[in-house]
Amino acid sequence: MLLLLKLIINNNRIMAIIITDECINCGACEPECPNNAIYEGAVEWTISEGNTVTGMYILEGGNEVDVNDKQEPIEDDYYFIVADKCTECVGFHEEPQCAAVCPVDCCVPDDERVETEEELLVKKGRLHVV
Ligand code: SF4
Ligand code: SF4
Repeated sequence: MLLLLKLIINNNRIMAIIITDECINCGACEPECPNNAIYEGAVEWTISEGNTVTGMYILEGGNEVDVNDKQEPIEDDYYFIVADKCTECVGFHEEPQCAAVCPVDCCVPDDERVETEEELLVKKGRLHVV
């Protein structure tokens, strides 16, 4: 796990977590996510599930959606992570909980997607409105 953390955290830049096609659909990661960012393959998702956000929400791609609107699945055959809802567990835990529990180590850093801790805390604040 230490190796994983070293891979994820590099000079305050944190790599997003993605689920690869090695996923065996065990479901162990889903209940561990503090943001409800993990969904089973082929399942529609919403911004509001597992969070307290209400109203309209601008996704990272720029589209504005109602937080209760159902969105298309990102993967059909195995579990997936909604990047708009994933804070990489920043603000909740010291390490990504999905990676910590995955029995086949298929929750891995995405070197195509890097966010700062500050950006992730802002995302957490947008999702968990107090
Ligand atoms: S890294 Fe944390 S917030 Fe992101 S999907 Fe995994 S458990 Fe959820
Ligand atoms: S814990 Fe790993 S193998 Fe199990 S559903 Fe999640 S990503 Fe897939």
